Amino acid sequence: MDQRLHRRCPAALTTIPGVVRIAIDIDSTLHQYWCVLSEAAKRRFGVALPYEEQYDWGVTRLRPEQLRVCIEETHRDGAIEASEPYPDAVETVRAWHEAGHFIHITSHRVDSARPATVRWLERIGLPFDEVYCSFDKVSRCCQIGIDLLIDDSPLNIASALERGIAVATIAHPWNRDVCEEEDVVCAPDWAQLRERLAPLLGVPPRASGEPR
Ligand SMILES: [Mg+2]
Repeated sequence: MDQRLHRRCPAALTTIPGVVRIAIDIDSTLHQYWCVLSEAAKRRFGVALPYEEQYDWGVTRLRPEQLRVCIEETHRDGAIEASEPYPDAVETVRAWHEAGHFIHITSHRVDSARPATVRWLERIGLPFDEVYCSFDKVSRCCQIGIDLLIDDSPLNIASALERGIAVATIAHPWNRDVCEEEDVVCAPDWAQLRERLAPLLGVPPRASGEPR
């Protein structure tokens, strides 16, 4: 028997239902995270992390301990709450939520960052049904029957695809290969992501002139 079948989520569906359970990552999906991480790396260790040269998921310019320090710094309450969402991200998620889809916000960060994360989502006006801060994102998606994961990490993309979860992402240098090789809805920005997911979610692209 195909071993991959054993890894599929029990609730993963081969066809997308009318109400879609959507999981949405935060860093580099809802807001521009890389420049924040790079600034922390430069400030702490004098190491720049050029976005356009980040062709894979590994951050080899920093030692693991240095990377951990930089991620911790960028996931402090003040840093979380200061983030600004990508253009059209909030409007798009709001339209999906208003259409009845379930919104699970999920981030690879410690659970103690959850209150600040919720405050941030409330400040930017992004509607959600639940927020999950932990390090087992795709397993959790399986447990709660997520149909579609929106996440920039090539590791999460591959893991979700293996489990039968549909995947979409904002395009970044580090996920270019997986976008080219796998069945991933990939878009350079949120307006185009909304457009490309319209057939799946039944929510049309934002009309020009529509208030934000
Ligand atoms: Mg991310």
